[in-house]
Amino acid sequence: MSSPDPAPGRLALTAPLSGLIVPLTEVPDPTFAEKMVGDGVSIDPTSEVLLSPCDGRVTLLHPAHHALTVTTPDGVEVLMHIGLETVGLKGRGFTPKVREGDEVTAGQPLIAFDAAYLARNAASLLTQIVISNGDKVYEYHPSAGRAEAGRTIVLELTLAGPPAGAAPSPPKDRAASAAGAGGEAASPELVILNPEGLHARPTAVLANSAKRFTAEIRLVKGDREANAKSVVAVMGLDVKRHDRVRIIADGLDAAEAVEALAAMIQSGLGENLHGRPKEAPAPAPAAPAPARSDEPGLLRGVSASTGLATGRIFQLRRAEIIVSEKGGDPEAERRALLAALEEAKKELAGLENKLRLSADVGKAAIFAAHQEILEDPELMTATLVGLDRGQSAAFAWRAAVQTQADTLKNLNNELLAGRANDVHDVGRRVLAKLTGQDDGPAPIPEEAILVAEDLTPSDVTGFDRHRVLGFCTTGGGATSHVAILARAAGLPAVAAIDRRALEAPDGTPAVLDGEKGELRLNPSAEEIERVRGLQRQADLDREKDLAEAARPAVTLDGHRFKVVANIGGLAEAKESVTQGGEGVGLLRSEFLFLERSEAPSEEEQGSVYQAIAKALGPERDLVVRTLDVGGDKPLAYLPLAPEVNPFLGVRGIRLNKVAPELFAAQVRAALTAAGFTRLHLMFPMIATVEEIREARAVVEREGEALKVQAPVAVGIMVEVPAAAMLAEGLAAEVDFFSIGTNDLTQYTLAIDRGHPSLAKMADGLHPAVLALIDRTVRGAHRHGKWVGVCGGLAGEPAAVPILLGLGVDELSVSVGSIAAVKAAIRRCRLDRCRGLAGEALARLTAAEVRALAGEFLEREREDDHVERV
Ligand code: PEP
Ligand code: MG
Repeated sequence: MSSPDPAPGRLALTAPLSGLIVPLTEVPDPTFAEKMVGDGVSIDPTSEVLLSPCDGRVTLLHPAHHALTVTTPDGVEVLMHIGLETVGLKGRGFTPKVREGDEVTAGQPLIAFDAAYLARNAASLLTQIVISNGDKVYEYHPSAGRAEAGRTIVLELTLAGPPAGAAPSPPKDRAASAAGAGGEAASPELVILNPEGLHARPTAVLANSAKRFTAEIRLVKGDREANAKSVVAVMGLDVKRHDRVRIIADGLDAAEAVEALAAMIQSGLGENLHGRPKEAPAPAPAAPAPARSDEPGLLRGVSASTGLATGRIFQLRRAEIIVSEKGGDPEAERRALLAALEEAKKELAGLENKLRLSADVGKAAIFAAHQEILEDPELMTATLVGLDRGQSAAFAWRAAVQTQADTLKNLNNELLAGRANDVHDVGRRVLAKLTGQDDGPAPIPEEAILVAEDLTPSDVTGFDRHRVLGFCTTGGGATSHVAILARAAGLPAVAAIDRRALEAPDGTPAVLDGEKGELRLNPSAEEIERVRGLQRQADLDREKDLAEAARPAVTLDGHRFKVVANIGGLAEAKESVTQGGEGVGLLRSEFLFLERSEAPSEEEQGSVYQAIAKALGPERDLVVRTLDVGGDKPLAYLPLAPEVNPFLGVRGIRLNKVAPELFAAQVRAALTAAGFTRLHLMFPMIATVEEIREARAVVEREGEALKVQAPVAVGIMVEVPAAAMLAEGLAAEVDFFSIGTNDLTQYTLAIDRGHPSLAKMADGLHPAVLALIDRTVRGAHRHGKWVGVCGGLAGEPAAVPILLGLGVDELSVSVGSIAAVKAAIRRCRLDRCRGLAGEALARLTAAEVRALAGEFLEREREDDHVERV
C-alpha cells in the first residue's frame, strides 16, 4: 500500500494505530502537550502493531524500541512515540519489525507491542504522532474521533518551503549540524557523568548559564527535548547518570552557547563527577512505602532526619489562598504578576544572602534554586497564556505552578518529586504577594511535633526552634530540601508518614523517632520516660565533653597538644570556639566558590574572611587554605578541559597557573583578615618547590601592594607523596606544614578516595602513609617548623595516639569531634605513644596497625582504671 495521493505541498498521514484520536494538548505529559517535541496528534490505541503513516525511510529507531521516526521523501520527520514513560521499559514489551535505514511504505508494520504489559508498566498507552521538524510544516490539520489503523487520515499537513516536486531535502541530521548560516549549532553527544544525573542544582547552573545567550537553546535527550533555559523543563527530561544528551542552539550566538554549555556539562556543572556530591545526600532509592503498622498508636514513615522528640501533636494546616479565575485588564494583570515576581525575588535574594553571609551555604543554595524557579521561562510562558485567555494573574500563575509541580511529581523519581515541593513553595510565595493573602508563620504552641501533608523549605527555615521539636509529613522524602534543612537544624523529622497522622487531634502526646521513621501517639508513661532518659544521657555526655573541651588537651605525662577545627564557613568558626576549638587549622575556602554560577567578588570573600577572623579573635590561628578545586570539586564558571584523570590533573594549587587572577584575588581578600586574627595562608596539593615559590611570590606581591603590616604565616598542605618525601627541603621554604591524610592516602595507595568499592581500603593508618607522616614531621622539625594533621585521620580516636607518637604538633578536626579528640589526648602518655608509633611503622598492613592501636587503647584504659582504683 502507498500513501494517499496528497495535493501538492500537502501530506496526509494515515493512522498508525486504531483507537480514539486525542488532541496533543490533552496528553498528560507536558513534553508532548506543550509540543516541545513537535506538533501532531495522539491516539489511545486499541490495536497492537504500529503501522507506518506514510512512505519514507526509518531514520531513527530508539534503542528502547518505543519510538521511531519515519522521514518522508519531502524531509518531514514523523516521530511516533508509543505510550508515555515507556523509555524506562528498556525495550520490554516491544518488538521492532524494521531497522534504522529501512525504506517503508504507508501501512507497513513498524513495531509490535504488548498492550497489556504496557498498561501495567507504563504511565499511559497514548501514542503520539508528531512532526519533529516543524519548520517543514506550514499548517497542521489533526482529525478527531475514531481512527482505523492504516485507513483513517489522522493528520494532514500543509508543507512549508519548496512545493512538492522540488528536489527532496535530505533528512535533517541534527547531530551533524554545526553552526551554519541559519544560526543553528549542535554539540556532539555528551555523556552525563553527574552521580545523580541533572537534578536541581546542576540544572540550575545549566539554565542560568544558558540564559546568558540570546539563542534558543534546547537540551536533547533521545527523542525528547527541553528548553535549556528552563530548570523545570530540563528536570522534566529526567536526565540520569550515563544518559546521552546534546545541546542544540539556534540564533546569533548559537555556536558560542553550544561550545560553552557543552564544556560545562562535561566538567559536571559544578558537581563532583567522581562520587556523591558532598553536601547533597545520596539519593535514596524510591523509598518503599512503609508498612502500615497494626500496633495501636504507632504510625510509620521514612526517616528524614534523625533524633528523638517527645512533645504534643500540632496539625499545621495552611489556609488555601482564594483566587478568582476571571482577570481584569490583561495588561494590568501582567504588571501585577511582574511586580509580585519582583517582590518575591527580592525576598529570596535577601534570604539567600543572609544565609551565605552566615556561611550556611547548603541552605543558601536552596533559596538560590528557588530564585531560578521564579525565573523559569516555562512557568512564565504558561502564566502569560492564561492571561491571554482572560484569567487573573493569580489564577494563571497557580495553574502554571500546579502543572510544573505535577510534571515533576509524576516522574516516579523521589528526588524530582521532592523538587515539586520547591515549586509549590515558590508558587505560594508569589501567590501571597499577588493576592495579599499572606498568612505569615503559623502560631505554633510549645513542645510541638508538627504534622502536615507537606512542608516547604520556607516553613522549615522560619520555625521557632524553641517551639518546634520535630515534624512529620505525609509527603516528601529523605532527599527533599525540607529533609536537608531538618538535618542541618538537628530537628528530628519523618517523611511519608501514615496518613492517619493527619487525624491525630492537636495536643495528643507523641514520641517522634527520626531514626526509625516512626511516630508513636499517646505513648505510655514508661515509654516517655525511656525516651527522655535516652535524651538526658546523650545530653549529659555531650555536656560533659563540652565542659571539658575548653580545657587544654594535655597528656597524662604533661605534654600539651593543640586541637583546632576544620571549618567551611562562619557558622562553623563560631561553633568551633564554643566547642573548645583552639583555632582553625583548615578553612576550606571552597565553600565560597562552589555551587554558584559566578565567582564570588573579592569584596564578598574579604568580608567573609574578616568575619571568620573576628569570630576567632587575635589569640587564635586561622589557616585559610587557598582554593582547592578541580578533581572532586569542579567549578561551573571555570570549565576545565575534560581530563581522563582529574585527581591527577588541574587541581589545587595547579589552578594558580590556569586562573592566576582568581588566585591573586583570593589572596588579596584573605590578606584583609590579617590583624583580626593570627592569619596563615596555606596552599593545597603542593608537589614541587616551584609551586611554593610562585604562590609565595603572589602573597608577597599582594601583601606589599596592600601594605599589610600584621604577620602572615605561609604553609603548605602535605598531601602529595612528593611533598612528604622532600619535606626537609620544603620546610626551609615555608612556616608550617599541614598533612592532608585524605589525599595523602589516596595518592600513596593509588586508590580514588571516592571510589565506591575501593575507598574503604584507603586507610590512613596504612604503614606506608604513616612512614610519610613520620618523614614529614622529621623534616619540618629539623627546621623548627610545626606540623598539623588536618585529614580525617586526625579525628579518629584510634589514630590519635599514633599521630602524637609520630610527633605531630596539632590536630585539626571537624567541629563536632573537637571535644572527643581532646578527651582522647588526655588519656595518652606521650612516651608510650612514641613506642606505639615505632611499632606501627614496622607493620605491613593497615589492619595490623589498627589491631595494634586497639590493644594499646585497651591497655591504657585498664592501666588508667587500676591507677584510679
Ligand atoms: C586532605 O586531603 O586530607 C584534606 C584535609 O583536604 P581535603 O579533604 O579538603 O582534600
Ligand atoms: Mg586534600
